[in-house]
Amino acid sequence: VIEYRGQSIEVWDAHAHLGRRMSMGIAHAIEIKSFQADELIAQMDACGVDVATPFPIGVGPEADYADLNLQVARAGLDYPGRIRGFGRLNPGFALEHNRRLLEDALAHGLRGLKLHPLIERFPADDRQRVYPLLELAEHFRLPVVFHCGMGDLASPDRIAQVARDFPRVNVIAGHAGLSEGVPRVIEHARHLPNLFMDTSAVGWLTLVCDAILWAGPERVLFGSDAPFNTVRMELDKLAVHANRLLQLSVEDFRLVMGGNLKRLLGVVA
Ligand SMILES: [Zn+2]
Repeated sequence: VIEYRGQSIEVWDAHAHLGRRMSMGIAHAIEIKSFQADELIAQMDACGVDVATPFPIGVGPEADYADLNLQVARAGLDYPGRIRGFGRLNPGFALEHNRRLLEDALAHGLRGLKLHPLIERFPADDRQRVYPLLELAEHFRLPVVFHCGMGDLASPDRIAQVARDFPRVNVIAGHAGLSEGVPRVIEHARHLPNLFMDTSAVGWLTLVCDAILWAGPERVLFGSDAPFNTVRMELDKLAVHANRLLQLSVEDFRLVMGGNLKRLLGVVA
């Protein structure tokens, strides 16, 4: 918890990663290549984050995430009440294979689904490969996080199309479109009640504030994207720096810092 205007506010981190990554791009630094639950918990403890919903770190189009999903699930058992993992699937694998992986992940306690159109190389709104996975998410009542931004495959328009086609699935635009995509995600969210966004890696305070002001505080989730960004910098970005401009009410602050994520996970306050 953190203190805000004399109130205790629970903090839930909607976007973090766990696991070991193969060497690709930015992932050469040791602490990014492999990031384990104790390291995430240490970052959370250092700044008052109560709960995180991590998913497997990106490996690439050759991975089906079977092992990493179970690692994330194990982290949830090692840190009950602190880590509530999401499973990650690669739509490049056959539906039956993915269905088994997802059922296995859920049986081990995972609670949501992460899809990354750029790393696993598929259009977010691919009807053949992605929509059957969204049907599974709907069946199991799972929120679905898409990486959003940095390329056409993961564009706000494609992710909004998914939200439009699956009105009963809560869709989270991860990173809210990063930078150039944020206004478009906001625009879509204004018309799609099941479209949410997290603040991780949005690099300009103006855009963070726009998201909360125009999409609404009930649509925006605090996220860190640890280990790529640290929990501390992302928490300060939102709770200190953006909020210095926003001056949110305690009620709205509570939603953004964790209340919205709790609602999406069906956790009663
Ligand atoms: Zn991420």
